[in-house]
Amino acid sequence: MPRAIRPMSNETPSAPSSPAADAPRDFIRQIIRDDLASGKHASTRTRFPPEPNGYLHIGHAKAICLNFGIAREFAGGWCNLRLDDTNPGKEDPEFVEGIKEDVRWLGYAWHELRHASDYFEVFYRAAIKLIEDGKAYVDDLNADEVRAYRGTLTEPGRNSPYRDRSVEENLDLFRRMRAGEFEDGSKTLRAKIDMAAGNINLRDPAIYRVRKVTHQNTGDAWPIYPMYDYAHCLSDALESITHSLCTLEFEDHRPLYDWFVDHVDLPNHPELWQPLVDAGLETKPSKPRQIEFSRLNLSYSITSKRKLAQLVNEGHVDSWDDPRMNTLRGLRRRGFTAASIRLLIERLGVSKQNSVIDYAVFEGCVREDLDAAAPRRMAVLDPLKLVITNLPEGHEEVLTFPNHPKDESFGSRTVPFSREVWIERDDFAEVPPKGFHRLKPEGEVRLRGVGIVKCEEVVKDADGQVIEVHCTLDPESRHGLPGADRKVKGTIHWVSAVHGVAAEVRLYDRLFSVPAPDDESDGKSWIEHINPEAKRVITGWVERAAALAEPEQHFQFERLGYFVADRLDHREHHPVFNRVVTLRDTWAAKG
Ligand code: ATP
Ligand code: MG
Repeated sequence: MPRAIRPMSNETPSAPSSPAADAPRDFIRQIIRDDLASGKHASTRTRFPPEPNGYLHIGHAKAICLNFGIAREFAGGWCNLRLDDTNPGKEDPEFVEGIKEDVRWLGYAWHELRHASDYFEVFYRAAIKLIEDGKAYVDDLNADEVRAYRGTLTEPGRNSPYRDRSVEENLDLFRRMRAGEFEDGSKTLRAKIDMAAGNINLRDPAIYRVRKVTHQNTGDAWPIYPMYDYAHCLSDALESITHSLCTLEFEDHRPLYDWFVDHVDLPNHPELWQPLVDAGLETKPSKPRQIEFSRLNLSYSITSKRKLAQLVNEGHVDSWDDPRMNTLRGLRRRGFTAASIRLLIERLGVSKQNSVIDYAVFEGCVREDLDAAAPRRMAVLDPLKLVITNLPEGHEEVLTFPNHPKDESFGSRTVPFSREVWIERDDFAEVPPKGFHRLKPEGEVRLRGVGIVKCEEVVKDADGQVIEVHCTLDPESRHGLPGADRKVKGTIHWVSAVHGVAAEVRLYDRLFSVPAPDDESDGKSWIEHINPEAKRVITGWVERAAALAEPEQHFQFERLGYFVADRLDHREHHPVFNRVVTLRDTWAAKG
């Protein structure tokens, strides 16, 4: 079972205490410091290499923050954004644009934007070199036969009957593969390593396969495409990446990574990459080092592009940027800030230990960021009318509220007040439970920024539903008067019923109702764990100063939570707010 990291408390986690703790000190950064100190490298060059077959998710944020973060921390460092587009058919230019936008939104800039497909000609020449060196051969076995020959963890594989073809025959066949003479699946080019290797990845892995599929960048120029293990390491070498950071599942592939890098030996074979020089791409190949770290897994979430795509394609959510999705664009639309995501990643650190992060830790990060960054507003989501009977009919006034209780630089705003205000239905109880400190018959409560009101009368409809509470306002307790200090236990928020603006409020919650939706040991598919309560749309009332928000502006709605004006749908005359997170963790008690 992966180890769960729990939040320190239900409150937001505390900030690092000493300045030294601010600088991340994980094993990868230590390797880099050592490499710089020893003179092995003069600077650090990394890359983030997504496959454009879906939008980025919260797991990718870890790889982004690590690669771009390191490039920023070490003098002279840089990070490329490389689209790993070796798998045509599943990849889409829409995703390319989305990936670029998401990386920028997270706050990072790439040194260069590269595509693995920029290097197709180099990969091809390198394959010819391997054949000439007797290190690669064309195999006629089909996929099933290759599998049968591969052996198992306990049994060695067997050599393919085609393994000992002559260099000339291999060159001829490979050139004809490239010319499009063979059908999909009929031939592969394989590295000639060792069919008895304990590490199955070294049992003559495929380098090229025939696939007559149009590529989004290279069109129909290539009927053959390189395999990931071959293309990835050579791309790193071509871009002079010093530290190639990837997730743990590639640990067993590292010997193969090194094998290709060493046997192709790009630095000593400029004829292989001359096409890049001719195309004006700066190229100075070097030998990269692969280092693995553990993936980010988040409870109550899915971090697989395939499954995220399924959620969209089967209509379980509205789109890739649905605020319930833990894609970066979904989180953004939901109102998670880039700073809160960077904070999460920083707080988790980098190690080789697999773990599942409690979603509450992530929520804690966004609360912490927005507590400092979000101005306060008042909104009522489940309205009950409160009438102040000792104010004259039509009474209106304008009050001034600070925008932030802890930070004067946020300034203040005016909030209209009137004889009739909306309060939250659950801030009134006709039969109050024990310890209830809000409004009850005959009881008193402070109306935030106004004064103390006393409940004199409860008005009900024919069904016995409370539809209004009638109160009197103690004039001595008005805000700013000496009597304002009079103690009452509760303070509630409100919105003027005359001036409030109706708003569409989308109350979001976790997409899955169990911590490990992927765990199918209970016989249920992950789809069955979708939380039906993850989206609820209601109409509430907000003060005008909230309705005037720009899209993507965040607020704390007092006593309710953090909200954001929807990036796409919010309008001044039709305000739309998404709930990012409640003020307190409401899941701790459930779990
Ligand atoms: P998926 O399984 O969702 O398709 P992937 O690893 O195939 O993910 P890529 O587009 O190949 O997706 O990933 C780009 C980079 O992001 C890789 O270096 C990969 O290791 C890293 N990455 C992907 N998922 C995570 C994760 N959960 N935590 C950390 N890094 C990740
Ligand atoms: Mg991948």
